[in-house]
Amino acid sequence: MLEFNQLENNHQEYEIKDGYRYLMGAQPQFPWHRVIWNPLTVAKHQFTMWLLVHEKLRTKDNLQFMQVSPLCVLCSGVDESCRHLFFECSWSKQLLQLAANWVGVDVMHFKFQNWLRWLRYGFKEKWRRQVVTAMVAACAYGVWSERNNRIFRQQQFQPHQTFRLLQAELGTKLVFSKWAKASGPNNFLIDRIRAAI
Ligand SMILES: [Zn+2]
Repeated sequence: MLEFNQLENNHQEYEIKDGYRYLMGAQPQFPWHRVIWNPLTVAKHQFTMWLLVHEKLRTKDNLQFMQVSPLCVLCSGVDESCRHLFFECSWSKQLLQLAANWVGVDVMHFKFQNWLRWLRYGFKEKWRRQVVTAMVAACAYGVWSERNNRIFRQQQFQPHQTFRLLQAELGTKLVFSKWAKASGPNNFLIDRIRAAI
């Protein structure tokens, strides 16, 4: 832990971020904020993704005291947990596959820890990481919305229907972003996104 007397003894090396670290105490091991907070992600998708990676969403495994059925409402085959709902459920995998195809990546072989880490370290180009993260956050939002709609509104969508909604929402955000404007005419992904919304 960095101490203030160290800071005082090393004026030349002191930086604001050191003081921030001292005041904030021990930080989480994985810097999720660097992955999740990016300008290409839709704000409400970003918020759901943040709750997801910190396992703060109130899935049924955290609500056992309410005596509700523990089964996942999307597949009815497995007890609902954050991990199952977003990374293992067959409904969610179909949604993620559609979205991954759209932005041209293969994510289906990843397990929970691996593909989240991949978002942080798996891309040479910052813009590609941001687009894929925005896509994953959109899926997290879509899964959580579908789960809530089934429980509270008795509405039910198929993965391709939810995907179309997310595609329009995220596609609009991407097409009008600074990234799209700065990408120039040769970015095939922008063309594909524009064609789909
Ligand atoms: Zn399920």
